[in-house]
Amino acid sequence: MNQIIQHAENLWTKGAGAEGTHPWRALGTFEKIRDGVWFASSFANLTLIDGGTELLVVDPGAKNNEERKFKQILDAFPDTPVSTIVYTHGHHDHCFGADRYKAHAKENKLIEPIIIGHRALNYRFDRYAKTTGYNEVINARQFLGGAAKISWEAEYVRPDLYVDNYKKIRVGNIEASITHSRGETDDSVWLHIPEYEALCTGDLFIWTTPNAGNPQKVQRYCGEWAAALEEMQTKSASVLLPGHGPPIIGKDRVEEALDSTRRYLESLETQTLQLMNLGASLDEVLAKVRPPEELSKKNFLRPVYDEPEFIVRNIWRLYGGWYDGQASNLKPPREESIAHEIVDLVTGGTKTLVERARTLSESGQWRLACKLADWAHHAAPGNTDIKLFRGQLYQARADQETSTMTIGIYNSVAREMGIEMKDQPTFSAQEKKANET
Ligand SMILES: [Zn+2]
Repeated sequence: MNQIIQHAENLWTKGAGAEGTHPWRALGTFEKIRDGVWFASSFANLTLIDGGTELLVVDPGAKNNEERKFKQILDAFPDTPVSTIVYTHGHHDHCFGADRYKAHAKENKLIEPIIIGHRALNYRFDRYAKTTGYNEVINARQFLGGAAKISWEAEYVRPDLYVDNYKKIRVGNIEASITHSRGETDDSVWLHIPEYEALCTGDLFIWTTPNAGNPQKVQRYCGEWAAALEEMQTKSASVLLPGHGPPIIGKDRVEEALDSTRRYLESLETQTLQLMNLGASLDEVLAKVRPPEELSKKNFLRPVYDEPEFIVRNIWRLYGGWYDGQASNLKPPREESIAHEIVDLVTGGTKTLVERARTLSESGQWRLACKLADWAHHAAPGNTDIKLFRGQLYQARADQETSTMTIGIYNSVAREMGIEMKDQPTFSAQEKKANET
């Protein structure tokens, strides 16, 4: 059995506990999954569909692995040209490397591959150029816990051909359909290759709680995501090639993965809308909405990257707006002035807040503990003892958390407070931690 299939089998049957906390283990290999279907396993995956006389590449790669993947394909298929490249969406770990295939075709006088993507990719790439600094900051937080700077690309190779809603393509001897569905992004497409009973989902399936919440990024589309999964279910595919994590192999497993993820998203959206329609505040919605318990236990829906609480916030933002229903939050006071007010009101001031925060953290009441520590810090930002306490508090809280996004943000605060931690990507640290326990 090849490595990718072995990893897929272990992850499905034993769960991420046996495989590390994070299911996105990058094997770095390029292997045949079944006749006509190849897969390069990395942080974000590449799928190759063999059309006999031509090849289709789905998601050529990221800056740090595009060349390796290109060479792996060339080694395995020295005489078959890549004629088509599809971007499932415009996230930077999926859509680099297409220029490498074009250059190779030119050098060898082959027909240049055509790049296909959804029309909204253009708006994304324009947005990235406008928000380079912001993306450097938030991605350093999300993936590195603020340990180092991340440089953000402002230039992208744009598609030659745009898909609006649906398009059928032919690659050599096989046909594939490309369908647009908003979900993780507004520019996402997924592919169905009937001949090989295969689905390339992009990030509409990623082996974790769907990335429909992401606190630092633009709007996601929970309900439309669920509808896309429902449409995929009608294809009765027997292999699912996801954007992250290993393939899912077998009709029953593919159906279970799609159906459970669809129901998970539908449930969060239905519950949130019911409360919104009754006039509930965001505070109340966050306190009441939970994913169904039987689905939360699935190996492929664990909150190791995003979290259901963040998805609920995004549903609120999509259907409501930014106002949370608390009138004092419509035009709130500065954080610093609240902090001074609280410190002046409390006997013992910042000292009392810190002591209480410590007690609360000891009984696992992290939400309250961190709020009090924030106030103590904002009232006395130059106080090094408070900074140290606040930093250690967030570091300890990060240790209790499960998702890359939360751990990254809390560790960033710890670093801002001067706490020294080993530099490593958040998700590698998550996996390492699981292997030690
Ligand atoms: Zn991705």
